[in-house]
Amino acid sequence: MKYIDSHTHLYAGEFDADREAVVQRAVHSGVSHLLLPAIDSLYHKKLLDVVTHHPQLCYPMMGLHPTSVRENYRDELTTVEKWLATPALKFYALGEIGIDLYWDKTFDQEQRIVFKEQLRMAINHDLPAVIHTRNSMEIVLEIVEKENNSLLRGVFHCFNGNLDQARRAISLGFYLGIGGVVTYKNSGLQKIIETISPVHLLLETDAPWLPPVPYRGKRNESSYLPLIAQKIAEITNVSLETVAEITTRNAKNLFKIS
Ligand SMILES: [Zn+2]
Repeated sequence: MKYIDSHTHLYAGEFDADREAVVQRAVHSGVSHLLLPAIDSLYHKKLLDVVTHHPQLCYPMMGLHPTSVRENYRDELTTVEKWLATPALKFYALGEIGIDLYWDKTFDQEQRIVFKEQLRMAINHDLPAVIHTRNSMEIVLEIVEKENNSLLRGVFHCFNGNLDQARRAISLGFYLGIGGVVTYKNSGLQKIIETISPVHLLLETDAPWLPPVPYRGKRNESSYLPLIAQKIAEITNVSLETVAEITTRNAKNLFKIS
């Protein structure tokens, strides 16, 4: 069985001591592709180094993460554009982009500006948008709905909305990214996934964060992806093989990887 981890920060410092072992375990678990979202310019080199070491396995995104939006956001956006325009490099999504009102609301307005600009970059570069929301699902959905552009596609990574918001995201042509949270008893996500076909889902770990049960409180890694697929299979009453097959196909279609 093959799986695609549509969202992992494999280049994070948490993996510096044993990154190769983590990669090997992922491969042994059947994970065939890892999509690596960008954060900001501090991490670009590390992200691209990991991709260079694993060209058949790791696929980079480019974008400015909402929690990295500060006074210097213009410079950061220029850097994102510069990377996207580099002919020798191929990026597979604008990500991760979005709005995060959980940690800090200081740059609330700037986050909106940066998000909208990066949605337009996604359209201009014909790339999917990998969207991060935290305490911001409604605002983000409204922005995407207002954009009203049929070229816009992507995934609500670590989907955390309600059922109505899930349906709105799907009707906008977006997938829902499902990770370890679906294995948490009181997350509310199980109730939502119950009614949604796997044709609208992508698997993700968001490693090193949000590990599935029974690894809660530990570091997350891509080799745990089958635990997430298994949970989705149970909830949706579909076989594990089918969940793996459908979500792999979804990720390949969205990111245009073969
Ligand atoms: Zn992330």
